[in-house]
Amino acid sequence: MSDLVARLADVDARIADAARSAGREAGEITRIVVTKFHPSSLVRELHGLGVGDVGESRQQELASKAEELSGLEGLRWHFIGQLQTKKARSVRRCAAAVHSVDRDRLVEALDAAAAPGDAPLDVLVQVNLTDDPARGGVDPRGLSALAERVASAPSLALRGVMAVAPLDEAPASAFERLAGYSGLVRAVEPAATWISAGMSADLVEAIACGATHLRIGTAITGPRPARG
Ligand SMILES: *Cc1c(COP(=O)(O)O)cnc(C)c1O
Repeated sequence: MSDLVARLADVDARIADAARSAGREAGEITRIVVTKFHPSSLVRELHGLGVGDVGESRQQELASKAEELSGLEGLRWHFIGQLQTKKARSVRRCAAAVHSVDRDRLVEALDAAAAPGDAPLDVLVQVNLTDDPARGGVDPRGLSALAERVASAPSLALRGVMAVAPLDEAPASAFERLAGYSGLVRAVEPAATWISAGMSADLVEAIACGATHLRIGTAITGPRPARG
């Protein structure tokens, strides 16, 4: 068994265990494999192992991999990184979902990037769980207004919230706050039930707090190559 197969199986077993402990169904949790900085050959290999959901954090890298792998059936790209408005069009062309919408201007840019006949783009509003604006995400006080903005954009589908755990706080307590923020967004759009939280180091805590989408990188891919 290759290392990749073993790590994928190990993570999936951890997800199943954590779901069972939380009284949840593992089947209701989407495991996104974050492939940033890795070559497209790794994505191809993952697809061969049945992986359908992959995550990227940089527009250029997403665009080149998505083009190279456009023949792979059933592959869904999730954009999870900070996004400049001028890159919105490119990301919209490649991604099935954007997890990192954090400001009005990005909502406008993604909406304006829709081509006639495009299916609605799945959008999550990223919430900042820290006091540091550089960490990305909307301040929780601005969350409801931003969610309203997404909900009223004709070509966007508001799906829920996304967050990254702070560096200086236990993930469990931060993810509990996120579960509350999910309620604020569901008050705007009842169908916006996705909670994108949980990375390699904190997936168990995220599942306990209701995460529906996990973004797992190194625990599956192994160490990332140096940023290219
Ligand atoms: C890189 C990244 C991940 C995956 O992180 P790992 O620790 O490798 O699992 C998840 N979410 C975001 C936003 C990332 O940038």
